[in-house]
Amino acid sequence: MARGNSQFVCQACGAFYAKWQGQCTACGEWNTLVEEAAPPSVGGKKGRGGATVA
Ligand SMILES: [Zn+2]
Repeated sequence: MARGNSQFVCQACGAFYAKWQGQCTACGEWNTLVEEAAPPSVGGKKGRGGATVA
């Protein structure tokens, strides 16, 4: 567990990024990425809550 368990999620469209960037390349919004704790295991399962932003 030496990896940085964090990711950046766009609050506008919910896109995930491994590192912060000023602009979300998915929706084009600026400064919408916020750091969130990444799930311990990244498998095929989706939906541990949190990424659903209306
Ligand atoms: Zn976005």
